[in-house]
Amino acid sequence: MLTSPASDGTTFDSLSLDSRILKNLSRQGYTSPTPIQVKAIPVVLSGRDVMGLAQTGTGKTAAFSLPILDRLAQAGRQTVRHPRCLVLAPTRELALQICENVLIYGEGLGLKTAAVFGGVSINPQIAALSRGVDFLVATPGRLLDLIGQNKVSLEAIQHLVLDEADRMLDMGFIHDLKRIVKYVPKRRQTLMFSATMSGDVHKLAQSYLHDPTTVEVAKRATTAQAVTQEVYFVEATEKLKLLVDLFSAREAAKAIVFVRMKHRANRIAEVLSKSGIPAAAFHSNKSQNARQRALDAFRKSEIQALVATDIAARGIDVDDVSHVFNFELPNEPESYVHRIGRTGRAGASGIAISLCSREERSYLTSIEKLIGKKIPVNSPEKS
Ligand code: AMP
Repeated sequence: MLTSPASDGTTFDSLSLDSRILKNLSRQGYTSPTPIQVKAIPVVLSGRDVMGLAQTGTGKTAAFSLPILDRLAQAGRQTVRHPRCLVLAPTRELALQICENVLIYGEGLGLKTAAVFGGVSINPQIAALSRGVDFLVATPGRLLDLIGQNKVSLEAIQHLVLDEADRMLDMGFIHDLKRIVKYVPKRRQTLMFSATMSGDVHKLAQSYLHDPTTVEVAKRATTAQAVTQEVYFVEATEKLKLLVDLFSAREAAKAIVFVRMKHRANRIAEVLSKSGIPAAAFHSNKSQNARQRALDAFRKSEIQALVATDIAARGIDVDDVSHVFNFELPNEPESYVHRIGRTGRAGASGIAISLCSREERSYLTSIEKLIGKKIPVNSPEKS
């Protein structure tokens, strides 16, 4: 959970949300809204479009879902139960996580929530849709499948949310998004969230948002302030040994190890486990079940390390990650910011350690340019 509530003393009670929603929040232990929630909730309630610049971890899911739930609950139950809210998310993990949160926030409102995503059987999703869904969370590919099979109608959508829009574009979902939006009524509220405002995100906002209010919280570089960053210069062939050593030297109780290649994730997880550091690989070649099992084990601290690729790691929502190891540096500097943001959450401090080989020096330079500072260099002798 987040412990960086709004500093201006705004309370959930003052945000004019349905009392049942307020009860659900207090049951979750949320005492006050986060900055993105303070800024976005009134705007969403007013019906305006929103461009939200915020990363995962800022409380953005509640920022868009609480006011939408409120409005859906006000409108009451519909006779024909086509979805009235559609949230599009880039990965199944994120879709599932949004759905889980919405179920909690909307308990007792009489609304039905479902998530549809690829990698699992489509039949239970078809069954859920046929029973009627008010709030639908979806990944683009599976949603298009369902539309193609006439299993879902988007004609009643009033609220459209594009979550992690930058990542959806990075993953090549632009054509899918365009196709999906064609099925959604023009008269609607559209909310878009993105960690970054690249040219492509801006273009997407221009085509889909109508006179939006922009809400922004903690810029990328400041998000990482709770995270101590270090880099070790090391030969590629020495990395694995150093990683194993660092787990004990740095008391890494719960760590995510990032790699660029899926096969390397498997190998590293294997070596860590053999060295007495229980670990699991987490990437898109693993089945949905295997990923969910790994994530659950990691949450419960049954395993100590999750070895993940960037895309799979999006949306991993685990609060007490003590260390992030960049076994390999990402070639997109923005991924570095996403990666290290997996630790230092919930007000705790976190440590991000990068292992940089000679070949990766240019990646490090781009990262340092993006975050606007030099990452302190450590050496194995000191650790
Ligand atoms: P998100 O950015 O939506 O992924 O949220 C990050 C985490 O913060 C999730 O674990 C939420 O359950 C939690 N969270 C969201 N809003 C609040 C709040 N107002 N107070 C405490 N925790 C929150």
